[in-house]
Amino acid sequence: MVELQGIPVSPGVAIGPALVLDADGYRIPRCLVAAEDAESEFTRLQSAVEGVSALLETNRLNTSAVAGVNTGDIFAAQLQMLHDPRLHAELGRRIREEHQAAAYAVSRVLHNYAAALRRLDNPLLADRAEDVLDIEKQLLLQLGAVSRQPLSELTEPVIVLSHSLTPSETASLDRRYVHGFCTETGGPGGHTAIVAKGLELPAVVGIGPFMENIGSAACVIVDGDRGRVIIDPDEATILQYTERLQQRESLSARLAELKDLPTETVDKVRIGLSANIEFPYETESCLERGADGIGLYRTEFLYLSSSEEPSEEDHYEAYSQVVREMNGRPVVIRTLDLGADKMGHRPLAEQEHNPFLGLRSIRLSLKNLDLFRPQLRAVLRAAVHGDVRVMFPLITTIAELRQARMLLNVVAEDLSESGIPYRSDIPVGMMVEVPAAVIMLDHFVKEIDFLSIGTNDLAQYTLAVDRSNEYVADLYQSCDPAVLRLIATSVKIADANHTPLAVCGEMSSNPGRALLLIGLGVRNLSVPPSSLHRVKKAIRSVTLKQCTQIAERVMTFDSARDVDLYLQDRLSDLVPELIVH
Ligand code: PEP
Ligand code: MG
Repeated sequence: MVELQGIPVSPGVAIGPALVLDADGYRIPRCLVAAEDAESEFTRLQSAVEGVSALLETNRLNTSAVAGVNTGDIFAAQLQMLHDPRLHAELGRRIREEHQAAAYAVSRVLHNYAAALRRLDNPLLADRAEDVLDIEKQLLLQLGAVSRQPLSELTEPVIVLSHSLTPSETASLDRRYVHGFCTETGGPGGHTAIVAKGLELPAVVGIGPFMENIGSAACVIVDGDRGRVIIDPDEATILQYTERLQQRESLSARLAELKDLPTETVDKVRIGLSANIEFPYETESCLERGADGIGLYRTEFLYLSSSEEPSEEDHYEAYSQVVREMNGRPVVIRTLDLGADKMGHRPLAEQEHNPFLGLRSIRLSLKNLDLFRPQLRAVLRAAVHGDVRVMFPLITTIAELRQARMLLNVVAEDLSESGIPYRSDIPVGMMVEVPAAVIMLDHFVKEIDFLSIGTNDLAQYTLAVDRSNEYVADLYQSCDPAVLRLIATSVKIADANHTPLAVCGEMSSNPGRALLLIGLGVRNLSVPPSSLHRVKKAIRSVTLKQCTQIAERVMTFDSARDVDLYLQDRLSDLVPELIVH
């Protein structure tokens, strides 16, 4: 049994057999072999090298005949790399001395080799890196590792163990069979974490290198509540976690009874409780759990989950489905938030040194109007089917807001001229995600119909901490007093101007933090569907006065740690039913 600690990003517990994926999408049957099998594993590698060598030689001859010797020489260079004595020595060492499986050793060594070439920042050597990865793939195929494709063809439950998972890879996991995952990289606020919550998949990220040290892992436990991963657990541990699973299930069943009750405090202060979604199919769970509406529809996932760039019709279909199913309840459609860790189908910017400070979100949309216009047209067209509101992400300057609004007007005029049904009188909102927006909020509120605080980015940009980086995960704290002061300031400005304000960042999905936000004056929250019941339970268990007292006390603290400890304490006093032991 091996216990690992990582960052808990999506709650819940999952138990099942491991499916190990390598960094480049190959399914590696196992990482280590028994000491007595190391020699035969090395022989397997040698046969694989011979097989790839024969293939490359055939490619060289055929290509030289058809396209000339120079083109054929590409394969000659690959052959030379394949037979590099240093490469063989390193692979031999890993297999014979460290007892790594051949496929695993190939994947690690060639990846490191390619990364080293890329770091040299020389275009010629970068091409070489691609050749190295090509050799890696061919060796892996010879060794029986299969591509990640079969992830969509699973037939039995698994727990995915991977070096990393992008948000789109996470989105394509088949929820029926993938019951949880853990990764070596990743931070607490990354979009991979958000997708995991949306899919309700227990997940732990940012564990650090661990895959080199595990064997075939017959069984894995992912504890998404505490950030623990247990490889090959003993009987007692399995029993303990099975009990936890049962406890969680009975709590969920009890909370489900709240579905049709209003979200209000004991003294009848009504709180708007909406849901955040990434995909249209999620509306079902929002309705099932009694959401007041969709407070954040992350539309960029339409890009991340399809193989082709979505057309205006694709946008329109998706939005119409959500709006129709929500049946008159408000739907806040956030315009594309691509860039940084969410990439589209074509390169929209040169390789950026600081993508989170670069061409992302509204900046990227305003620079790629062929991307932005179809989306805005689709939003206005879908608005005829219900209560649609549009929201712009990452607004930092007034100029950006005005440009986005102007484009919305232009698009409305185009629709009108073409006689296409649309609604242009929809409320227009902005996300408050950068400190600059808070500082200038008294100006923004004059030009906007509603505000929604994105605490995930607000924490990232206030604290200068990359939300998806495991190395600084301990510094990424949405309850940092600096972030709380920005939230409190935003609420005051919004109230003074009678501008509706919501909080849709992950912070609001934590029951204790939700009570703090209410105490700070927030009256609308938007949370992942899986958190609706827990947050409603917390709200229905307290008075407004208790929330205000929590906020007053919290605002005297000078560290996120003190805030979180105090909130945990208050929650277990006020809503003990939510604590799972
Ligand atoms: C946020 O930043 O808090 C937010 C809700 O947007 P996203 O997580 O999609 O960046
Ligand atoms: Mg954001």
